[in-house]
Amino acid sequence: MNLALHEKRYVIIGNGVAGTTAAETLRKNDPTCSIHLLTNEPYPLYNRVSLPRFLQGVITEQKVMIRDLAWHEQRNIQLVTETMVTGVYTDEHIVVTDTASMFPTMRCWWPVVVGPIPCVFLAHREPATFTTL
Ligand SMILES: Cc1cc2nc3c(=O)[nH]c(=O)nc-3n(C[C@H](O)[C@H](O)[C@H](O)COP(=O)(O)OP(=O)(O)OC[C@H]3O[C@@H](n4cnc5c(N)ncnc54)[C@H](O)[C@@H]3O)c2cc1C
Repeated sequence: MNLALHEKRYVIIGNGVAGTTAAETLRKNDPTCSIHLLTNEPYPLYNRVSLPRFLQGVITEQKVMIRDLAWHEQRNIQLVTETMVTGVYTDEHIVVTDTASMFPTMRCWWPVVVGPIPCVFLAHREPATFTTL
């Protein structure tokens, strides 16, 4: 990724309805910004409310899933699964995760807490680290 091409780069922690909607809204308002959506879960957005009926075998997995990988790709939203954010250090502009499964450069955004924070992912080893350029 070329940093110079992305003035605004965002990391959103959590891909539930809040995080996924935040990503979607960001993209609608800025076609060029970089968006990374981090989740410790292995799935794109699914309907939590439907889980009991799914576990009971009443409905299929297809009925539970709200978004798929293609939805993210079409909007150029980088969905990063199975990645637990273990620390957000706003003063240092660092986000730490438990996995080094990716190494993009980005801004960090925790939608329910703070605005954009410039960050760049540094570590290729555990723990993964996002820090300021
Ligand atoms: C069985 C069930 C039934 C429900 N029924 C109703 C209902 O009838 N009506 C209603 O209004 N609400 C209901 N809810 C609640 C509703 O689903 C939640 O209010 C809604 O999902 C909240 O969305 P969210 O995006 O804020 O959080 P979540 O859906 O909790 O999503 C947060 C995501 O962030 C991830 N995450 C958290 N911390 C980290 C981290 N440190 N690093 C990486 N990823 C992280 C989590 O794994 C999760 O995927 C129900 C929930 C459940 C489980």
